[in-house]
Amino acid sequence: MRHEFVLPITPPSTVEKKSQTEDHRNEGLKPRKLLPQLKRSVCNRKPRLKYRPELNTVFDLDAYVDLPHSSKLRHHHKGNDADFIKYALNYSKRMVVVSGAGVSVAAGIPDFRSSEGIFSTVNGGSGKDLFDYNRVYGDESMGVKFNQLMVSLFKLSKDCRPTKFHEMLNSFAKDGRLLRLYTQNIDGLDTQLPHLSTNVPLTKPIPSTVQLHGSVRHMECNKCLNVEPFDPAIFRCDDEYDSPTEIIPSCPQCEEFETVRKIAGLRSTGVGKLRPRVILYNEIHPEGDFIGEIANNDLKKRLDCLIIVGTSLKIPGVKNICRQFAAKVHANKGIVLYLNTSMPPKNVLDSLKFVDMIVLGDCQHITSLL
Ligand SMILES: [Zn+2]
Repeated sequence: MRHEFVLPITPPSTVEKKSQTEDHRNEGLKPRKLLPQLKRSVCNRKPRLKYRPELNTVFDLDAYVDLPHSSKLRHHHKGNDADFIKYALNYSKRMVVVSGAGVSVAAGIPDFRSSEGIFSTVNGGSGKDLFDYNRVYGDESMGVKFNQLMVSLFKLSKDCRPTKFHEMLNSFAKDGRLLRLYTQNIDGLDTQLPHLSTNVPLTKPIPSTVQLHGSVRHMECNKCLNVEPFDPAIFRCDDEYDSPTEIIPSCPQCEEFETVRKIAGLRSTGVGKLRPRVILYNEIHPEGDFIGEIANNDLKKRLDCLIIVGTSLKIPGVKNICRQFAAKVHANKGIVLYLNTSMPPKNVLDSLKFVDMIVLGDCQHITSLL
């Protein structure tokens, strides 16, 4: 009976099939197979830029998009400026994008940090106070308000879908043309797209998106630094003091360590607190140095386009990053676009120095220029 288990001398048919597919794979190296790729790179070759507007030229995007396609104004008066934007979007090969709340407004997420943001009126405090470390963790009622804000933003961001603008950035990244997205948004709408993903916490290899202010999708222990998906159920959002939830919940992982230490007869080292993984004003950014290192490395690449979008650059650190990118892109004869619903303040433009075009309007409209 033993001979039944002896291996056959000739290989089974599946083995032969496998070697055939391997041959096919080797064919991929032959020039014939490379042709379509070559063709594609020829098609994507950057044409010469025929027109460059003066610095800080204002382009009214909303008005342009509203013009009928046959309009003479569209073709002559604004045509060159529109072509300049199209050129930046279609031919840039190493883009950096710095985004703010404006890109998520169309998804249904309000610009909650601004004075008009709905959270400022709902919660009876200014948007900035609700993001101030000392205010948020200074007294209980502010702590509760902050939790309300985080929980509602978390639920909102889970319900909202990425916008056309997010999709456009995702397609740039897919084509290998987006070097980095630096996002100030904490909604995670950008990072949920496959080519705009990030690492939490930020680690090498550097992901396509760097979250400058964290996100509401995660929470972190301030002691053991354990990062977990945000759990809205454990953060107290009302004034009921017999509530089982806490304003700043204790970390279950630390509690577990404590129990083990107790059993082992070791001294207590304390239990950490869980916080939404969002960076507040007046707090030291735990990943600040690493983000600076990433930006410095990106500055060394041959950047040919910077798009600053949906932000008024009120945060000095972000403005500083933009200033350096703008200078570098300008030195490389690239294009700097500042896309926002309102004019950037004069001091911001002065600081940036090299903005080719201020594109005024809804950033979603720019996708129609692709
Ligand atoms: Zn912990």
